Amino acid sequence: MKKFGIVIHGGAGTITKATMTPEKEKAYMEALEKAIETGYAVLEKNGSSLDAVESAVLCLENIPLFNAGKGAVLTHDKKYEMDASIMNGKTLEAGAIAGVRNIKNPVKLARAVMEKSEFVMLAGTDAQEFAKANNIEIESDEYFYTKERYDQLLKAIETGRSFLDHTVFEEKKLGTVGAVALDMNGDLAAATSTGGMTNKRYGRVGDTPLIGSGTYANNKTCAVSCTGSGEYFIRAVAAYDVSAQIEYGGKSLREACEALIHKRLKDINGDGGLIAINTNCEIDMSFNSEGMYRGYRTSDKEMEVKIYG
Ligand code: ASP
Repeated sequence: MKKFGIVIHGGAGTITKATMTPEKEKAYMEALEKAIETGYAVLEKNGSSLDAVESAVLCLENIPLFNAGKGAVLTHDKKYEMDASIMNGKTLEAGAIAGVRNIKNPVKLARAVMEKSEFVMLAGTDAQEFAKANNIEIESDEYFYTKERYDQLLKAIETGRSFLDHTVFEEKKLGTVGAVALDMNGDLAAATSTGGMTNKRYGRVGDTPLIGSGTYANNKTCAVSCTGSGEYFIRAVAAYDVSAQIEYGGKSLREACEALIHKRLKDINGDGGLIAINTNCEIDMSFNSEGMYRGYRTSDKEMEVKIYG
């Protein structure tokens, strides 16, 4: 049987056992398991890696625990501006959206951009027109509202800074979501989705929708989805850096991921993590923060879900 598998993340940051309640921990573990099962079920039926990453990310977007879709963090102006991207490792086609509002499942819109438009990235409120034309579900602002996020914003405004959702207050551990997968045909895909940073302003866009920074997939090398302080991942061209180390430097998946997270990012004080998979079904979940919501299931490994370092 051909190998296949999926790896997901629900954000990296200041996530420690000391700041977690047993109930919250259970809710996160169950949510991660559900997303893995959803993506794995697609792969098991010989579905494509693209369908698997889209369905796993969509599942996480619908769970308010995570900073993507419902549960997205708020901007300084009390809006929800979401970023997402998806990439096909077989064709190197990609789709992305930045700073979009009222889109129920940003990952779906990113995929529609990839498959139904002549562009790679759409930004801002005009992207809604494209969404409507392609029957992508639109939601009211109320749909995205969660009290936790609102309180988080008010506290962030007091400090005058923008924060990674899970780093604002230690008791809050919520994050960007992503998935990478290998299907039975040997094809890779990656997808990432986020509300960005609490209290962001001026149309700030992070690494998540930038192909090569937050997301990258290439059958020759690997599929990668990143999470953490986006500015550093942009400067490190993080996801593509992992791929390039493998393609041009002959590194293994593990060596490339570790070099990026523990060396290149560290050198510029960048914090966060990534998930990666290659066509041998090797996986990696490196991070340099206290924790990262993460998990995987492959055709030869039982499901594993983890939160802390
Ligand atoms: N990387 C995301 C951003 O900077 C945030 C995150 O991963 O939580 O927008």
